[in-house]
Amino acid sequence: MSAPRQIHIELEQCEGHGLCAATAPGIYDLDDDGFALRQDFEVSSELVSDAEAGIGACPMSAIRWAS
Ligand code: SF4
Repeated sequence: MSAPRQIHIELEQCEGHGLCAATAPGIYDLDDDGFALRQDFEVSSELVSDAEAGIGACPMSAIRWAS
């Protein structure tokens, strides 16, 4: 079983496309303007593959694994 992992989002790179949250609802939180809200947060092992899909969906490559 995989371990929980840590997401890091470069918030200044985020342009508010919202594709991360559309691809992986419940993992990525957006503010009222559609920009990523949280810079660093943990993803449980069950959600790692969904989070990975969100990373791939970001057109700005603003999301990465921190661990
Ligand atoms: S997909 Fe990327 S650019 Fe769009 S809201 Fe998420 S982090 Fe920001």
